[in-house]
Amino acid sequence: MLKVKPETACIHAVRDATHSTGAVGGTIYQSATFAHPGVGQSTGYDYSRAQNPTREHVEKMLAALEGGTDALAFSSGMAAIAAVMELLSPGDEMIATDDLYGGSVRLFNNVSAKNGVTVRYVDTSDSVAVSAAVGSRTKAIFVESPTNPMMKVSDIGAIKRIIGDKKILLIVDNTFLTPYFCNPLALGADIVIHSGTKYLSGHNDTLAGFVVVRSPEIAEKLRLLQKTIGAVLSPFDAFLVTRGIKTLAVRMEKAQENALKIAPWLGKQSKVTAVHYVGLSDHPAYALSLQQAHGFGAMISFSVDSAKTANAILSNTKLILFAESLGGVETLITYPLMQTHADVPEPERLARGIDEKLLRLSVGIEAAEDIIDDLEKAMQ
Ligand SMILES: *Cc1c(COP(=O)(O)O)cnc(C)c1O
Repeated sequence: MLKVKPETACIHAVRDATHSTGAVGGTIYQSATFAHPGVGQSTGYDYSRAQNPTREHVEKMLAALEGGTDALAFSSGMAAIAAVMELLSPGDEMIATDDLYGGSVRLFNNVSAKNGVTVRYVDTSDSVAVSAAVGSRTKAIFVESPTNPMMKVSDIGAIKRIIGDKKILLIVDNTFLTPYFCNPLALGADIVIHSGTKYLSGHNDTLAGFVVVRSPEIAEKLRLLQKTIGAVLSPFDAFLVTRGIKTLAVRMEKAQENALKIAPWLGKQSKVTAVHYVGLSDHPAYALSLQQAHGFGAMISFSVDSAKTANAILSNTKLILFAESLGGVETLITYPLMQTHADVPEPERLARGIDEKLLRLSVGIEAAEDIIDDLEKAMQ
């Protein structure tokens, strides 16, 4: 593998070794099965649920960008998280960030609970609270940072130090920062998760999920689980993610540049009562972010003065699309209350500040001035 800077790695870290045509664009192996050269022989590929060259290529790319020994590509971010949860057994406990992606909460409370795994929600941005929550049955700590939608940041290195040499897996959902801005494995995480649907593919045109691991033993367990459960990434979708990653660096830089203009602007609007963006110097984890990441990302959430204002913004923006998801070239606005977090029980939701006045913005790569102009007119 070439030793190069991250933006170069996004393009060149892995070369397609499976063909000799010299094709610079990707190769899509749209094949479910692979013929054996002879009895007891294999080309290395037998059946695409086990492995497919197009999927293998994007997996190697993720492993290279995150600094892992292996990466596995799934059909969605949730499929990736569901597979990781199969590493736990009935009776095990997991500590999870209390401000998680709504789909993860739905998985833990409905599926993991039924499978005998107890998930305890803790403010993982508070290392003391994490330390106090660790018990004899704790087998994993699941961290999302920055969180969705409140943008709280957890100190990954500090949590690793709390774990010490206990057999507790540290799992980090790195969807918001991507490997371009943060590498949790280098900070002590054992497993990194991505919804590849977001920044990695980057164009709102495919679903994908990734699990990147440090240890070969865990990789082997996950390979067996993936082959057994079967929620693998299709060859065409694998190609789309590989293509998306080629521009990851420029997209992340531009989206962040826009967010660094939009967040302070929001802060000055009379109808905006709070802005949550890690890149604002008054964010509680601004210094920590500078230390453990190379960027702040481009996710902003903000509160307005009334539900009426929130509704006006959602109804009146012309450029910004009112749609779920994030991380694409288009700026999207969401209403966490009714979309991503609709399934989180109300008391828990309100305790986390997710009410009828909170909006979330996934800043895209349009001109910042146009995004600001659209927000300004919609707010009037
Ligand atoms: C979207 C998202 C997921 C789930 O990924 P899908 O690809 O939608 O299944 C998990 N974690 C975070 C932080 C997300 O934003």
